[in-house]
Amino acid sequence: MLYNLHTHSHYCGHGSGEISEYAEYAASKGFSMLGFSEHCPFPDSLLGNSRMPFSSMALYEDDVRRAGASLPFPVYLGYEIDYYDEYSSFFRSLSERTDFLIAGVHYVRRPDGTFRTPFNPGFSDDDVKRYADAAVKVMETGLLTFLAHPDVFLCRRPFDKVAEDAARTIASAAAELSVPLEVNGNGLLKGCGENEGYPSPHFWRIASEYVDSAVVSSDAHAVRNLDRTHSFCRAFAGVFGLSVLEPYDDNGRPRLRKADQS
Ligand SMILES: [Zn+2]
Ligand SMILES: [Zn+2]
Repeated sequence: MLYNLHTHSHYCGHGSGEISEYAEYAASKGFSMLGFSEHCPFPDSLLGNSRMPFSSMALYEDDVRRAGASLPFPVYLGYEIDYYDEYSSFFRSLSERTDFLIAGVHYVRRPDGTFRTPFNPGFSDDDVKRYADAAVKVMETGLLTFLAHPDVFLCRRPFDKVAEDAARTIASAAAELSVPLEVNGNGLLKGCGENEGYPSPHFWRIASEYVDSAVVSSDAHAVRNLDRTHSFCRAFAGVFGLSVLEPYDDNGRPRLRKADQS
């Protein structure tokens, strides 16, 4: 079953492709379901360099709704959010007028108010701890269909004791809160040089002590990448004994379940 619930586009500013092009490509490949989850902008333009302007949200949402109207499979409107407590009511109302939300921790906020991203060097041990805490916090909101690339904090660092502790914190919370974790194909395409990168075998070896399933996504930022890593991600999950969650429609919202739970 080909599906993808983590899809970007030209809207975020660092991706390419029209919404309609992703939808047509998915149709040509026989997808059973497609979800768009563009990086969600903040009302005050926080982190504005990595997401669409707040004023473009309506355009994006219309585009996704239009794309879905003419296809033989469901197309869902969603966002990938970066969560900070002061925006909780914004995200709560967003979840009501969209079909689904996923979250990625792309920036941690230090006590001095500055942000650090695991995509750049200089992501410290304390930043890794902040990353794990932020991942748990957003899972606790109950707003998520799944947590995207839980292992992205390994983008520029080795898997050491600090990283292992973070992996355990994230995976145990995911199990306790029943929030699926994502095996993310985009890290595979990016490559992280000498670094651990993602999806990380070290992370998932630890995670598989706590969870027995995972969702697979391409995190496509270009049309041709929509299904390119799908088989790899499925096989990767299998290596760690994880069953790949399958999506189904629940009153217009995508939900995930194990294949034998239908
Ligand atoms: Zn992106
Ligand atoms: Zn992401």
